[in-house]
Amino acid sequence: MDFGIRGRKAIVCAASKGLGKGCAMALAAEGVEVLITARGAEALEATAVEIRSRTGATVRTVAGDVTTEAGRAAILAAMPDPDILVNNAGGPPAGDYHDWVEEDWRKAVEANMITPIMLIRAVVDGMVERQFGRIVNITSSAVKAPIPELGLSNGARAGLTGFVAGIARQVVKHNVTINNLLPGQFETDRLTSNIATNAKRSGRSEEETRQAMLAANPARRFGSAQEFGATCAFLCSAHAGYIAGQNVLIDGARYPGTF
Ligand code: NAP
Repeated sequence: MDFGIRGRKAIVCAASKGLGKGCAMALAAEGVEVLITARGAEALEATAVEIRSRTGATVRTVAGDVTTEAGRAAILAAMPDPDILVNNAGGPPAGDYHDWVEEDWRKAVEANMITPIMLIRAVVDGMVERQFGRIVNITSSAVKAPIPELGLSNGARAGLTGFVAGIARQVVKHNVTINNLLPGQFETDRLTSNIATNAKRSGRSEEETRQAMLAANPARRFGSAQEFGATCAFLCSAHAGYIAGQNVLIDGARYPGTF
């Protein structure tokens, strides 16, 4: 299937590794010019080289912290008029609600709610004018079913989800869609660090913790960044103009609800 987005331009935030990289790779494979970002310049450049060599697409980089105003300004200066925006940033640390002070909450809300909202605000009017736009926010399955040790994520991402539910319905008539992609457990560095935290808290080994998580997933495996990226690219495709304001869960059917 031709996704119909060859020649389009995309900003993919936090994309030197993991799920962001998976999205950038899948979009580039569809002929989209991608601008990828991350804080660490070295890994970012290596990823750009890899995406170029595997897809032949134009790949540009902006190194910086997307959760800061200056970081976002640098991204928008490099690509002020994207057709596609994939919002992503590192998730807040795991822990216990007793320990999270006001500063921790401000950081989580800044990174996982205000940052994507500010980027949406900066690009959405241009998309409306051009009558094409696709915005995908990488959030978490925690939005649908809370993960107690990731309370900062549960809270901050719920705020973004509420905002998206409203604005998505205002712009879809202009062929601009905004959706959230909710990863369950994907084989990335973030998952490895969550496993380490859970293991420490429970007194089990990391391997035991990993096996218990796998056993609890109906698919008996973790997801791959490649399959996450493919779903993202479809949501950004020309064919997905009628999918808007949705929270698309990708978790190997771990969430136990019928709907
Ligand atoms: P990952 O493998 O650790 O990759 C994170 C990427 O984001 C790296 O490229 C990192 O590069 C970049 N990054 C982190 N903070 C950044 C910042 N402030 N500014 C710019 N770039 C930044 O993580 P992942 O598993 O792909 O997770 C992506 C998102 O999905 C996170 O918000 C995570 O909480 C969420 N999520 C993941 C899972 C999972 O199972 N993997 C499940 C639920 C939710 P630098 O460090 O060099 O900046």
